[in-house]
Amino acid sequence: MEKRKDFSDLKREVIDVGNCTLCGGCVSTCRLLDLGYLSTDFSEGRPVISEGQQCPIDCGYCYYQCPRVEAPELREGLEELYEVVSKDNEIREACQEGGGAFLSLLASALADVIVEGCITVADKGDLTPEVRVAMNKAALIENAGGTYGYAATLTGIADAILNYGLWSVALAGTPCQMAAYETMLAVGRGTHNAHDFSSNVRLRIGLLCQGAYSYDALLNDYLERERGIPIDEITNLDIQEDGLHVYAGEKELLHAGFEEIADYKREGCKICEDFIGQFSDISVGHIGSPAGKSTVIIHTDFGKEVFESALHWDFIEAKPLDKSGADLIHRLQQEKKAAGMAEKARRKKK
Ligand code: SF4
Ligand code: SF4
Ligand code: SF4
Repeated sequence: MEKRKDFSDLKREVIDVGNCTLCGGCVSTCRLLDLGYLSTDFSEGRPVISEGQQCPIDCGYCYYQCPRVEAPELREGLEELYEVVSKDNEIREACQEGGGAFLSLLASALADVIVEGCITVADKGDLTPEVRVAMNKAALIENAGGTYGYAATLTGIADAILNYGLWSVALAGTPCQMAAYETMLAVGRGTHNAHDFSSNVRLRIGLLCQGAYSYDALLNDYLERERGIPIDEITNLDIQEDGLHVYAGEKELLHAGFEEIADYKREGCKICEDFIGQFSDISVGHIGSPAGKSTVIIHTDFGKEVFESALHWDFIEAKPLDKSGADLIHRLQQEKKAAGMAEKARRKKK
C-alpha cells in the first residue's frame, strides 16, 4: 500500500517551493485543529506547525486537502456578466470605490436566510487581515475593507462551524480560496478529511483577483524605504486593473504599475491561472464596470438564484455588462492563465 503523505511532504512539495496560496485549507482540515497544531504565520506567509511537535503517524489530512497538490476539477457552468450597484445606502457609503455588490449579495443572502453567517476578512487596523464571521449587515459593513488575498480565509470555516455553531455559511474570498474549498468538497466525500465541513458552505462569493502581494515587503521595503511614504499615513492599498493605488483617506498618495511592484507579488500567485474565480457561485470585482459600479459574474444556477433574490429584495440593481467590460474580463482571464502556465513550466524545468 502506498505510504500516506503528511505535512512534511506538503512543506517540501508546495510550501518550500513557493506554490502555497495561504488559503488556510490545510489548517482547517488538520486532524489536530482543536490543539492549534497547524496555523498560518502571517509575517512568513506560510502554514507552520507548532515548534517541536510531531504529526501522528498516517495522518496527512492537510496534504490531501491542498489545492496546490492537485488542482480541483473545473465544472462547466454559467457565465453571465452584469454591471451592478448596491441599492443599500449604508453599504454604498462603506464601499465608495466599488458598487457595493459584494456586501449587498452577502447581506441579501443573510436577510433571505440562505446562510446564517458569512466568512469575511476585516482589516485589524494596521492593514493586516483578520478572518471573521459576520452574521448581520452591520457586521459585514464593520468588516469591509479587509485584504482577502493575504488571509487564510478557509480557517473561518472551522471557526463558523465549531465556535459559532452555524450550519450554513457563505465563504467570501479569492479564486484560490474558492478552489481550496472545491478540493475540500472532493476530499470530504472520501477519506482524506479530518473534519467534514464540506456540507456547511452553502454559498461561495469570489473576488476577481490579479494577485496578492507580500505585505511586509510591499509596505516596508517598497512604500516606506523606496518611495518614502510613512506606513502610518496609509489607510488603504487597492489593486486595480492598472496597478497599485495607495491612499490616505480620500487622498491618493501613489499609483504604481504592475511591473514596478512585480518583485513583491507572492510566489504562490505567480503560478495562479484563475482571475475570475471559476469555482465560485458568483464572482465580484470592480474591473470592467464604470467607477462606482461592480462587475458581477454568475457561474452556477445557485449563484443565479442568490443574485435574483438580491434583485427581488432591492439589495442591488443590475444590467448586462457592456461588450468592452466583458472583453476586458475575458482578456485578463486569458492573460493570467497564460502567465500562470508559463511560470509553472519554468519552475518544472528548474
Ligand atoms: S493534518 Fe496531520 S499531518 Fe497535517 S499538520 Fe495536521 S497533524 Fe500533521
Ligand atoms: S495552498 Fe492552502 S492548503 Fe496548500 S499549503 Fe498553502 S495554505 Fe495549505
Ligand atoms: S493571484 Fe491566485 S493565488 Fe494569488 S491570491 Fe489571487 S487567486 Fe489566490
